[in-house]
Amino acid sequence: MISFFPAPYQDEILYSILARYHLRSGNTSYFTTNEDLYNGGIITSSIDLPSNNNILAENIPKLFGYTADEIIKNYSLFNYYTSFVDVHEKQLALEMLKGNDGRGVHSIVGAAQVSVKQQGYFKICPICCKEEIQDYGEAYLHRIHQIPEVFICSKHQVPLKISKQPIYYYGKNSYVPLLEVEFKENITNDLFINNLEHFVAINQYIEYLLSNEVNNKDYLWITDQYKNRLRELCLCTPSGRVKIDQVESRFIKFYGEEFLSLFDLNIYSSNITNWIKYMLRISRSNVNPIKHLLLIRFLGIDLEEFFNKTIKYKPFGDGPWICLNKICDNYCKPVIESIEVNYNCSKKKPVGKFKCECCGFTYARCGPDVCEEDKYKIGKVITIGERYKEEIESLARKGVSIRYISRELGVGQNTVKKYIL
Ligand SMILES: [Zn+2]
Ligand SMILES: [Zn+2]
Repeated sequence: MISFFPAPYQDEILYSILARYHLRSGNTSYFTTNEDLYNGGIITSSIDLPSNNNILAENIPKLFGYTADEIIKNYSLFNYYTSFVDVHEKQLALEMLKGNDGRGVHSIVGAAQVSVKQQGYFKICPICCKEEIQDYGEAYLHRIHQIPEVFICSKHQVPLKISKQPIYYYGKNSYVPLLEVEFKENITNDLFINNLEHFVAINQYIEYLLSNEVNNKDYLWITDQYKNRLRELCLCTPSGRVKIDQVESRFIKFYGEEFLSLFDLNIYSSNITNWIKYMLRISRSNVNPIKHLLLIRFLGIDLEEFFNKTIKYKPFGDGPWICLNKICDNYCKPVIESIEVNYNCSKKKPVGKFKCECCGFTYARCGPDVCEEDKYKIGKVITIGERYKEEIESLARKGVSIRYISRELGVGQNTVKKYIL
């Protein structure tokens, strides 16, 4: 058990807290620090998803009130990396990080996939560092800045700097004080300025994921969300075939080649390694969360809603829908509460079936509705309904001609014949 523990700064990452512990402990070697914190053993200090948190929590004096769960969720990148995995996988990853064998956890959550060229480095915001030294006498590593796909500081709107050496350079069980790390520019100023809007948006998403535990869903639900949004954008057929060429070209246009060049996304290959295609497959393994974030932003979906609100494809808009029976008291009034939507495979279009409960008149039309006038279109009459039948019979009883009834009621002569015989 250790006798003190540094109070974490705002959004400080565990590695940084432990490095500050090392510095203050007066330990002359990382080995002794590892003894203090983890009872020795072979620890591979990982900055993003560190394991052995049960032992660490036991070694921190109880009065500080840390549990292994809190350490993992508040001071590592766990929340970010587990946002798009299902509840079962998230729990599995949590247990692995609590225990002493965290090997494989990166693969489970998709963090093993390299998504940017510069991976495994320390990153800092030069202005945050300056302010922290002024305010606290020391700077620290921020969680959000250590995410490989984060390139800027949202608070100061400047590019982050990156360490000259990768983290592994400092040794397997190291807790390098920030003072000893040298930093260099990461992205050019031009790239930063040209793409500021994208950088800021992606940072906002990541901040949200780090500080909130999302309502985890499985990949089938996630894929459905994407497909329904693509259907709304006419980038996916009603039956579910994604117009991948159009999606890709729009995606590239949306972000621009310069911004996308920062990521290793495999957009341009036409085979199965094409990641957008892969993400929309019925079955896939977990992918790096940045891929979801880029897609969600491109599709214009609100991140919080993505996890909490099912995206429904509504080719006929929201109900209630109108009755189009001219002789119904509710003609042109929104009285149809629910409709049936099917897909016409040969036309590759959705077909809506609208039934008025008041008169029984039922019609269908192909969608999607693209303008207000479409709401008044009858593609095909499925059944004319009770109200019509009564009307035809009543006119027939008066002895008027079929042609007259047809004209008067606006239905075909054959239909009239059907009901007067
Ligand atoms: Zn900053
Ligand atoms: Zn009606």
